Amino acid sequence: MVNLILFGPPGSGKGTQAAKLVEKYNLLHISTGDLFRYEIKNKTELGLKAKSIIDKGELVPDEITVGMLRNKVEANPDVEGYIFDGFPRTVPQCEALNQLLSENSEEVTLLLELEVEDEEIVNRLLLRAETSGRADDANEDIIKNRLEVYKSETIPVSDFYDKLGKTIRVHGQGSIDQVFERLSNEIDSTILC
Ligand code: AMP
Repeated sequence: MVNLILFGPPGSGKGTQAAKLVEKYNLLHISTGDLFRYEIKNKTELGLKAKSIIDKGELVPDEITVGMLRNKVEANPDVEGYIFDGFPRTVPQCEALNQLLSENSEEVTLLLELEVEDEEIVNRLLLRAETSGRADDANEDIIKNRLEVYKSETIPVSDFYDKLGKTIRVHGQGSIDQVFERLSNEIDSTILC
């Protein structure tokens, strides 16, 4: 199996690139942000709990997030691998993912980190708000909070996998196809050797 973590700040292009990568490598895309938005749309108990947290740009507690991710992974056992997008976002989530994968004798293959400057992030998210309808994209203060949370809670995830020799940093600016080519080259040189 190939288990990729697509990592980077909000608005770094993880969702866009994941959609292209799943086609090329035949993997299952799991975005915890999308899973939460589905729960919110369907007004489930989990969605109701998560909504106010997400709207403020904070992180949903690990226990809730990990439980939701585990359900999704366990519901899709017959796949060639996963692309995790927006997960893990804290070190305890890394540990939970390692535990979950190891139950099937699997592990994280690579963490691919998209590097994008803050100014570009704010511009991209404000533009995305015009079509996404996402409250957390529409307000500059909330975007800045998401970036703060990313730096304090989520960057340690990249360091966690770096210590295991699994983090690869990729320049995340340029055209969608350019970034896709950079990511594909890194994946190919890891899985083909
Ligand atoms: P995203 O679509 O990945 O930008 O996620 C949108 C929001 O969902 C985030 O700002 C968090 O509030 C929440 N969220 C998504 N993934 C996670 C996660 N792994 N841990 C905690 N909260 C998350």
